[in-house]
Amino acid sequence: MTIGIWILGDQLHSQQAALLSYQNNKQQTPIIFIECLNYIKKRPYHQQKLVLVFSAMRHFAEELKSQGWSVTYKIAQDFETALNHWIKTNAITELRLVTPYDRPFLKLIQNFQLDCNIKFIPNNHFLWTQAEFKQWTDSRKRLLLEDFYREGRKRFNILMESDQPIGGQWNFDKQNRNPPKKSLNPPTPLWFEPDEITQQVIKDIKSYKIETYGKIEPFKWGVTRSQALQVLEHFLANNLNHFGTYQDAMIVGEYTMWHSLISPYLNLGLLTPLEVIKSVEKAYYEFDYPLNSVEGLIRQILGWREYMYGIYQLMDDDYADKNWFNHQEELPEFYWDSSQTDMNCLKPILQQVEETGYAHHIQRLMILSNFALIVGVSPQAINDWFHSAFIDAYDWVMVPNVIGMGQFADGGILASKPYAASANYINKMSDYCKSCVYKHNQRTGEKACPFNFFYWDFLSRHQLQLKALGRMNLVLANLKKMDTVELEKIQSQAQQWREA
Ligand SMILES: Cc1cc2nc3c(=O)[nH]c(=O)nc-3n(C[C@H](O)[C@H](O)[C@H](O)COP(=O)(O)OP(=O)(O)OC[C@H]3O[C@@H](n4cnc5c(N)ncnc54)[C@H](O)[C@@H]3O)c2cc1C
Ligand code: SF4
Repeated sequence: MTIGIWILGDQLHSQQAALLSYQNNKQQTPIIFIECLNYIKKRPYHQQKLVLVFSAMRHFAEELKSQGWSVTYKIAQDFETALNHWIKTNAITELRLVTPYDRPFLKLIQNFQLDCNIKFIPNNHFLWTQAEFKQWTDSRKRLLLEDFYREGRKRFNILMESDQPIGGQWNFDKQNRNPPKKSLNPPTPLWFEPDEITQQVIKDIKSYKIETYGKIEPFKWGVTRSQALQVLEHFLANNLNHFGTYQDAMIVGEYTMWHSLISPYLNLGLLTPLEVIKSVEKAYYEFDYPLNSVEGLIRQILGWREYMYGIYQLMDDDYADKNWFNHQEELPEFYWDSSQTDMNCLKPILQQVEETGYAHHIQRLMILSNFALIVGVSPQAINDWFHSAFIDAYDWVMVPNVIGMGQFADGGILASKPYAASANYINKMSDYCKSCVYKHNQRTGEKACPFNFFYWDFLSRHQLQLKALGRMNLVLANLKKMDTVELEKIQSQAQQWREA
């Protein structure tokens, strides 16, 4: 029997399950990596995402070669032909790979006609297996992130003193919502110069006649495990201290704040979740960093990241098609071209996404996703855009974050109420409104902020559904008090904006 291992582009870790399952005879175990050109035509991907994935694959292939594995690296039109050719050439009888994290990709592979058996190895990249997550959900009526997170803290013994949380509290989120002060001076992110391999990938991508999004250069992301570890070290030394306090804050010209920028590396397998969590916990004990920052970062990974993956695997296949509000509007054109908007929150964020493929969580949730939600954009259209535009986007993380959290299209499986907000929130948490052509305190009129008229229009369009949730009563009471003439003006301004 000859076993061959196929390494997917987001499974680039030497401890990944398929490699671990067969370490006996490296020189005689064929390994294949495939850059598939048809696959990257499926949507207009951010050019830097393509560079990141292909360059990281090429680097990892070199690393495995240097460890003695027999590696084939293919650039091919389609996966199936490349695989069958390699299977035949190497007389492979069993193809092994880690089960893909993305469900559509798993289905695609299951439909391949391959000339050998295929064996999926359960992934070891998430801390909870699908069966464990299912067992946890079966034991409760409501799926609350907070309950899941506490379970994770106990299970992996993170920030615990015996069976109690360190600091006497599980969650310090209330301390993590500080608005930006004038004097804030966030640290500079750690970036890298493209090496020869990355420069070659950039040339290759430029030569393909495919539809893409965003700028390809300057490309500054890390592409190896060693660089990803440097980014983690940089975060621990420079950002972790203040990560919590200004986690939700936004400032013009500062797009990374104290965030870690590790999602691209975690999602490719260049970092593992447990090593990040452990190193943050260690920094807490060694350097006495504030608990709200340490706990805040750990909750993102041990809580949110694992939870989103668990929910994604648990839901039926039609989860990505959900549309609780029945929103059907097209995505505004400026999402694809930031120069087409003059809104001083959306414009710089969209610009930075074009330039880097990155925006931090609150920019994604409370600006980019919130605007699409209150305008009434189809959840699938905004999901497609996020998937194209972001450096760290994969189906497993995109679908629950956009469809569930951002658009509330699942009707409340993931969040207990929609993340919808007017300019009031944006003005409190950022300095964007200060230099905007629109007035954050006006709901109607030529200079009224679009977040305002769309927010109230959204509430009035969906008041019956929102009332049933029971958590929006305060704002719905304000809507009820609103003068009818003003509400009509709001609705008409929202409609005119959509038509324009
Ligand atoms: C609408 C929307 C779209 C998103 N799209 C993506 C995406 O395509 N890819 C992606 O990895 N994350 C996505 N997220 C989650 C989160 O915004 C990003 O993980 C985070 O902004 C990445 O930047 P960072 O590494 O600097 O994160 P930090 O703020 O430093 O957080 C540390 C890590 O925690 C994890 N994390 C935090 N929140 C989440 C979450 N909600 N879901 C999963 N992991 C989380 C990430 O691995 C992140 O790297 C999305 C969130 C929203 C609301
Ligand atoms: S006024 Fe409105 S459009 Fe302008 S920055 Fe503030 S929220 Fe954005």
